[in-house]
Amino acid sequence: TNSSRSMSIRENVQVVVRLRPPSTKERAQSEEPCWHIGPDPGMIQQLQTRKNQTAVFQYDSVVSGVDNKLVYDTGIGNLVRSTMAGYNGTVFAYGQTASGKTYTMMGTHDQPGVIPRAIDELFAYIEENPGREFMLRVSYLEIYKEKIRDLIGDNDQVIPEIREDKKRGVYVRNLREVIVTSAQQVLDVIKQGEDNRHISATDYNTESSRSHTILQIVIESRSKDVFTTDQGSVRVSQLNLIDLAGSEKATSDLDRRQEGGYINKSLLALGNVISQLINKMNNEKVHVQYRSSTLTRVLQTALSGNARISIVCTINPTWKSKDESLNTLRFAQRAK
Ligand code: ADP
Ligand code: MG
Repeated sequence: TNSSRSMSIRENVQVVVRLRPPSTKERAQSEEPCWHIGPDPGMIQQLQTRKNQTAVFQYDSVVSGVDNKLVYDTGIGNLVRSTMAGYNGTVFAYGQTASGKTYTMMGTHDQPGVIPRAIDELFAYIEENPGREFMLRVSYLEIYKEKIRDLIGDNDQVIPEIREDKKRGVYVRNLREVIVTSAQQVLDVIKQGEDNRHISATDYNTESSRSHTILQIVIESRSKDVFTTDQGSVRVSQLNLIDLAGSEKATSDLDRRQEGGYINKSLLALGNVISQLINKMNNEKVHVQYRSSTLTRVLQTALSGNARISIVCTINPTWKSKDESLNTLRFAQRAK
């Protein structure tokens, strides 16, 4: 029926908007707030200076504040657990630079973000399911100017490239994969990747805001019980945790020529692919344009088939960022 179909779409693609608290500096400027959360759950609206039309946006959830567990509990935890049961899962942080993407994905010591929480949960799941045997492999990569860079591999020796075959589907060849048996090992992989990036980047801050960072975990498992019917059959799925490039418009002509175009191309392609996927879940005959950017191509296997997607769209609280925030909210709405 229609209602059960739309139920499953709502489960498969989840959109969360997160409003960052004002920084000390922003608070010192004591601006009027730009956004109001409500009136109903999942709603956010722009506060108008004049009393004419107010745009109200509706999502699965809208959250504010410093609490990263609140964000994880909007449904990202469910997505992470389902990857251990054989579904593909992808979590995106989308938004302009300084809106809280990295805070959401990595977090801090006191407020661990999506990535450390997910990693903990994967290994807790293994403990709780002694009847299955699991193997987890981790890759850490970034896409910069439409090129793939292995953050933990030797990019001078081998060039990561996209390949497709019948058995593996679409995958990145020449990407280093590390078999991990503990949460700490995954954190070590990330640490190694971050260290490599700091060494190689000429301007780390500029580059990091312009690249998409992907933590990919491939999960294989099989039943240990020799009497079960699926004995020996291997379940394979993947979890992708992605800190996207800043969604802001290029600020100078040079940027626009050199990089901006690339970023916008990937983010635009991502928006198109997600809305095409939603139409497809609605049983419409659509062609999903995975080939339109490196990002969507790398994610092709994860997004097609048994896929679950969570998008956290982060916005700044200030009036200065209003237009970029509106762009982010519109992107988020397309994915709904
Ligand atoms: P982005 O990755 O989108 O460029 P960051 O995650 O680096 O943005 O956030 C910019 C700054 O704001 C950082 O200092 C970060 O710690 C802080 N910040 C972002 N979101 C929050 C939040 N929800 N609560 C508290 N501080 C935040
Ligand atoms: Mg960041």
